[in-house]
Amino acid sequence: MSSECCSSAGAGSCCSGGSSSASSCPITYFEGMIGNCLEYATAAKKSGKPIVGIMCEYTPRELIMAAGALPVCLCGGSADTIPAAEESLPTNLCPLIKSTFGYHAANSNPFLAMADLIVGETTCDGKKKMYELMGMARKMHILELPHRQDCPEALAYWRAELVRLKDALNKRFNVNISDNCIRHAIEVMNRERSAKRKLAALMESDNPPITGLQLLGLKSIISGIPSDLEQYDRAIGMFSSMQGAAKKSVRVLLTGVPTVHGAERVVNIIETSGGLVVCTENCTGLKPVLDDVDTSGDPIDALARKYFGLHCSVMTPNARRRDTMASLVKQYRPQCIVDLVWQACLTYDVESYFIRDLAKELNLPYLRIETDYSPSDSARIKVRLQAMFETVRSRNQRC
Ligand code: SF4
Ligand code: SF4
Repeated sequence: MSSECCSSAGAGSCCSGGSSSASSCPITYFEGMIGNCLEYATAAKKSGKPIVGIMCEYTPRELIMAAGALPVCLCGGSADTIPAAEESLPTNLCPLIKSTFGYHAANSNPFLAMADLIVGETTCDGKKKMYELMGMARKMHILELPHRQDCPEALAYWRAELVRLKDALNKRFNVNISDNCIRHAIEVMNRERSAKRKLAALMESDNPPITGLQLLGLKSIISGIPSDLEQYDRAIGMFSSMQGAAKKSVRVLLTGVPTVHGAERVVNIIETSGGLVVCTENCTGLKPVLDDVDTSGDPIDALARKYFGLHCSVMTPNARRRDTMASLVKQYRPQCIVDLVWQACLTYDVESYFIRDLAKELNLPYLRIETDYSPSDSARIKVRLQAMFETVRSRNQRC
């Protein structure tokens, strides 16, 4: 029986080892991300390390890591699992929720099969109701996320929810999470967030060395894997000194819903239609890595502040999204804004009003794309993007 949360080696533990990949190019290395993660999680599980599935950026991975467990993102990006989900869930539901649930229904996600616990959170209605169905067959812990960021009582409530999660992890895995273990996990996650910010900053260049799709590929569904961190640093070193060929691509800021692994279709269409995604303001881009967790003071306070500050559309009001986007526009100099909304995602759909308004204020062409995981509308999306890029080019010629 172990009460020492840092006793086993691996991601986020105090004793982390580090296997180095010999892969010469980080882009190639991350193309094998799912295989690498599966190998890593299988070895971790074999050595007695628990696996915890997560499905949202509000879940503090640090607490899971501090419990000596491995946090694995279970968000589904595949259209193939949706029919299995639609046997229980309504058809008119966000594809991200259906795809994630489809993996559960079809028992086709090895990470989900390995999970000793799944942490969900009360974000959008579709997700929280889906958790009720998933919870009938799997062990779940639900974090209740308040939706008023401008309310100190809401932050205090969220902090209490993190303490409740810590207690649940202690009980489930028979550990005793100490402040030092949390601080160590915060350091690992801050290092990862810092690397991701530096990678994103490569796109500030007039001729970025990589494409937005390549940048999106530099990710892992498990945080803190030592060889991943090495590859992030390697990519920063390699690409910082490189320039892309001078291109005529239109610089795009992509905002809206997350484009999780397997659901990168729209990014691909943008970049094969004359655009270059230079900034991604969503949960698979900059949004979760903009702020680090404060390393001074009480670590639970610091985690509560950082995670409660995330500007997801489930917050009301969500003023920080607008402010963040205005500052990202200055930093990345996009020539237009693409606002991606998954079908039936009501919160991002409604917020499109504010993003359109912001684009107008910033004098940037704006395109809202509402779609799902099916490729059936790809040709139509391409035509709409090409028309917007043409507008941008003709504007530039006039200037
Ligand atoms: S968009 Fe919102 S609900 Fe979805 S992962 Fe991000 S924070 Fe969570
Ligand atoms: S994209 Fe929208 S509907 Fe789908 S899970 Fe995220 S917040 Fe919920």
